[in-house]
Amino acid sequence: MARKLPATDVVIVGLGWTGSILAHELAGSGLNIVAIERGPWRDTATDFPPAYAQDELRYHIRHDLFLRPAQLTMTVRNGVNETALPMRSWGSFMPPNGVGGGGVHWNAETWRFLPSDFQMKTHLTERYGEKFLPADMTIQDWGVTYDELEPCYDRFEYLCGTSGKAGNIKGQIQAGGNPFEGARAREYPTPPQKQPYGPTLFAQAAKEMGYKPFPQPSGNLSQAYTNPLGVTLGPCTYCGFCEWFGCGNYSKASPQTTILPALVRQPNFEARTQCEVLKINLDNSGKRATGVTYVDTSGNEWEQPADLVLLCAFQLFNVHLLLISGIGKPYDPRANEGMIGRNYSYQVTSSVDAFFDNKIFNPFIASGAIGMCIDEFNGDNFDHGPHGFVGGGYMGAVQTNGRPLQTTRTPKGTPQWGLEWKEAVAKNYLTSYEAVTHGGCCSYRDAYCDLDPTYTDRFGRKLMRITFDFHENELKMSQYLTDRLAEVVQKMGPRQFEKRPRSGPYDSTVYQTTHTCGGAIMGTDPKSSALNRYLQSWDVSNLFVLGATAFPQNAGYNPTDTVGALAYWTADAITSQYLKNPGPLVHI
Ligand SMILES: Cc1cc2nc3c(=O)[nH]c(=O)nc-3n(C[C@H](O)[C@H](O)[C@H](O)COP(=O)(O)OP(=O)(O)OC[C@H]3O[C@@H](n4cnc5c(N)ncnc54)[C@H](O)[C@@H]3O)c2cc1C
Ligand code: SF4
Repeated sequence: MARKLPATDVVIVGLGWTGSILAHELAGSGLNIVAIERGPWRDTATDFPPAYAQDELRYHIRHDLFLRPAQLTMTVRNGVNETALPMRSWGSFMPPNGVGGGGVHWNAETWRFLPSDFQMKTHLTERYGEKFLPADMTIQDWGVTYDELEPCYDRFEYLCGTSGKAGNIKGQIQAGGNPFEGARAREYPTPPQKQPYGPTLFAQAAKEMGYKPFPQPSGNLSQAYTNPLGVTLGPCTYCGFCEWFGCGNYSKASPQTTILPALVRQPNFEARTQCEVLKINLDNSGKRATGVTYVDTSGNEWEQPADLVLLCAFQLFNVHLLLISGIGKPYDPRANEGMIGRNYSYQVTSSVDAFFDNKIFNPFIASGAIGMCIDEFNGDNFDHGPHGFVGGGYMGAVQTNGRPLQTTRTPKGTPQWGLEWKEAVAKNYLTSYEAVTHGGCCSYRDAYCDLDPTYTDRFGRKLMRITFDFHENELKMSQYLTDRLAEVVQKMGPRQFEKRPRSGPYDSTVYQTTHTCGGAIMGTDPKSSALNRYLQSWDVSNLFVLGATAFPQNAGYNPTDTVGALAYWTADAITSQYLKNPGPLVHI
């Protein structure tokens, strides 16, 4: 039996990127805010000091910063007629756990989506006709436009101090930036990071082929920066222990290095860590959230009443909590009904490995988001007509690490163990290079989340079940992108190179990205979306669901710039509209 606590104005589930942004924005409105976070408190100086933060075994192999599957996991299957099995160790994605969420251990590749990404269905239908899209593809427009979100992108990037080179300022194309990006109001807050040899060589080759290479936008800062909240970050040292690691150098944008120092000074903000929210509570009508129930580390259950509930628990856990709490109608792919769990989507990555004789790349000079990219094959930046697929992705040479346990690239045919393997790893460590593509993923009728009929967690709650596979459209896209990437890599002059396009079926045991999305998507109509354009639940108007849960499909970029922009978009809607007149912000 849960013990009831005094009511608060706002309860936030999860204190990662979106939870921190919403807490800070709403604390400014004078509301009392309680953030409930499943994992521990984490501070830069104490948790990630450079003396021991570079422990590859602890963080990369043993997943120290992530959720333990024994605490909570999910089941996965490729098709609706299969029995799903629980993930007993993490594979294709790495669920966050702890203050800062994924913002602690992300790479910080900080991309805006293209304007046409937000109107994907309309845009593609107008350009290619309805019949060009597969019948089971369920892509949709977002209900918000790039132009509406631009000021919010700007706020997130200036919060983070993002390093980069603008390609389009107020409609004027800028030399050296991404000419395909949507118009931005101003330059990035800090200039691009310095480029190592590999990305420089890639950019040279791409330029000679007529492409327009540009530096990847990065939350690993090129120089010291003080953000609008008065929080200062330091320049990145290119240590290469970035993705999967916390940055002890205060150089990677994270909630800890950008927002929490300001937030914890707010007297009306309280964080309760190592407390896991079990469900969102509803009143008898089922139309109003009354707060949440959570459990602390001693196993005590607490009920936290609140006027407003903000679900900021990362895409996967947002959807699970909605399903567990009985909010909205669960999606049923056979009947094609229900909105919760619908349009689950992912990301389609691929790579080209290249082996050189006479070039030394020094892969250990790296950061989470350093590299040179091209965008000619992203979104609808090229004519898809002759190719029979839609979507695309950016590609480039992104030099994230040369960590010794992970960096063991060897040419095909090398034995996978023993002396010959060791010799090949030593020979190729400095002279091989991996270039990557980062492709979008459309949504489909048979890709979704629901509650597993068999497996439960330690509280007896049904696990979430993910049903997902790559479709022909995405496999064709990956092959096409990888072929284009290989052409650039070949121009870099390797002795040999190997293409690794994504092939099916989806394998949940192999790390790809933690860019899961969908499951409670935003839109303009409750018949085709779970959230309105402000990320407010159509069913429960005092509930907002943040994060990539709202994406109707995934674009060919990393998601967090858009997740951050949407967080500011929602915060503005709450402070400027909802608080004045609590209730649905969109009437149909
Ligand atoms: C290894 C890695 C690399 C990445 N690199 C990039 C990148 O380069 N670029 C990019 O754009 N994105 C990247 N991402 C994704 C990025 O981390 C996420 O998009 C971002 O953190 C999402 O923000 P969020 O607020 O939705 O969730 P998070 O920031 O993850 O925060 C969610 C919080 O909710 C908490 N929580 C969950 N369930 C509960 C519960 N029941 N009760 C209480 N608390 C709960 C979690 O512990 C967590 O702290 C990466 C992710 C990973 C794992
Ligand atoms: S690469 Fe840079 S931003 Fe990343 S952890 Fe190292 S110092 Fe920090």
